[in-house]
Amino acid sequence: AAVPAPAQHVAVVAFPFSSHAAVLLSFARALAAAAAPAGATLSFLSTPSSVAQLRGASASADLPGNLRFVEVPDGAPASEESVPVPRQMELFMAAAEAGAVKAGLEAARAAAGGARVSCVVGDAFVWPAAEAAAAAGAPWVPVWTAASCALVAHLRTDALREDVGDQAASRADEMLISHPGLASYRVRDLPGGVVSGDFNYVINTLLHRMGQCLPRAATAVALNTFPGLDPPDVTAALSETLPNCLPFGPYHLLLLKDGNGTATPADPHGCLAWLDRHPARGVAYVSFGTVASPQPDELRELAAGLEAAGAPFLWSLREDSWPLLPPGFLDRAAAGGSGLVVPWAPQVPVLRHASVGAFLTHAGWASVLEGVSSGVPMACRPFFGDQRMNARSVAHVWGFGAVFDGAMTRDTVAAAVEALLRGEEGTRMRARAQELQAAVAEAFEPGGGCRKNFNKFVEIVCRV
Ligand code: UDP
Repeated sequence: AAVPAPAQHVAVVAFPFSSHAAVLLSFARALAAAAAPAGATLSFLSTPSSVAQLRGASASADLPGNLRFVEVPDGAPASEESVPVPRQMELFMAAAEAGAVKAGLEAARAAAGGARVSCVVGDAFVWPAAEAAAAAGAPWVPVWTAASCALVAHLRTDALREDVGDQAASRADEMLISHPGLASYRVRDLPGGVVSGDFNYVINTLLHRMGQCLPRAATAVALNTFPGLDPPDVTAALSETLPNCLPFGPYHLLLLKDGNGTATPADPHGCLAWLDRHPARGVAYVSFGTVASPQPDELRELAAGLEAAGAPFLWSLREDSWPLLPPGFLDRAAAGGSGLVVPWAPQVPVLRHASVGAFLTHAGWASVLEGVSSGVPMACRPFFGDQRMNARSVAHVWGFGAVFDGAMTRDTVAAAVEALLRGEEGTRMRARAQELQAAVAEAFEPGGGCRKNFNKFVEIVCRV
């Protein structure tokens, strides 16, 4: 008689900092929905404070029935209070390496009535999950949330360091032509911590170790890009180094047609209604993500540039920066109806709104993907991490945007807004963005490239 196959139990391991855990949770929701017909259950592993935050933010009442939260130790000593985030990351990574993920997998097994973990999916940042998976006899399937070109740089960090040595500054403008997948980038475009910066900073160490671990330990890798976006040399460099590279991003689109719905983000400051009052493609939307923040001088230059451009603008700016704006700026914007400054905007629907014609961005990867999948051309002001590399791709690989040369000034901001909204250059960039927007839409149609790759991912993850 046939023995029924044991139900699969997939552990999904989060990196419990910044927006990483929320992105992975939305990924896990899509996976839970796709894996439900096979009877699979999912355990979402994160630290106690991250789980509490996710429960609060995501109305976990509507969590899929086959997805549960499981806590992993955060490594923080009980006595320490208000530990700075980089230190929290160090403690978490040290704990993960020392067995916290293993402990999490055991807790997941207990929470699932003893069902062994059959696969470990997880944020690629948490590379110690590879060893925990191996110890549990399960494959490790990491999820990469940033750009593919940045992943190539992390995979090649040792080779890049050997090549560049201590000459990162003097060779800043040199193209990386001898490094497969990086020929379109200069030394200066590499993510911080690859050949310059503090190699011992927690994120830099983490990405270096991750780059060494992925090729030997991953069974497959989810990529946050869609077929047709990455140039062939980048795709080739990844698939020569990693098994089963599966592009099916932007991941937030996975949920849209899964019958599982996705919550429309709240709009407490009325951004969408405000946009409704403006003409098509007339508004510049400004946001530098959740971490980056321009210095006070640059912030004032940006504000003056937006006023000088004379086009309506919607600016998502953390409230603690508002006092730094030029005197009267907020009042003038409000009185003329020409500008709206909010502490938070529902960025995805904002970028999809017909009135938005330009995006001033820090070129965080989520923002770049959201912009291009809405067909909006952008002007990039990268600050740190992988933002320079993303900005370089936007302008020089894909051509749907421009990059500020260093800090923004009143004149460069006004010129960028003018060019994107009204210039010929902007028209070309918009056309390019719209081509890629169409490619994303097609990739997420039933039977499209992203759907196929996601199905393959689900097959790999749910194979007992
Ligand atoms: N975001 C948003 N509203 C805001 C600012 C940011 O919804 O007012 C979202 C944005 O849509 C994106 C994320 O926050 O999904 C920022 O991610 P990104 O990778 O661009 O930058 P990071 O914050 O990680 O630097």
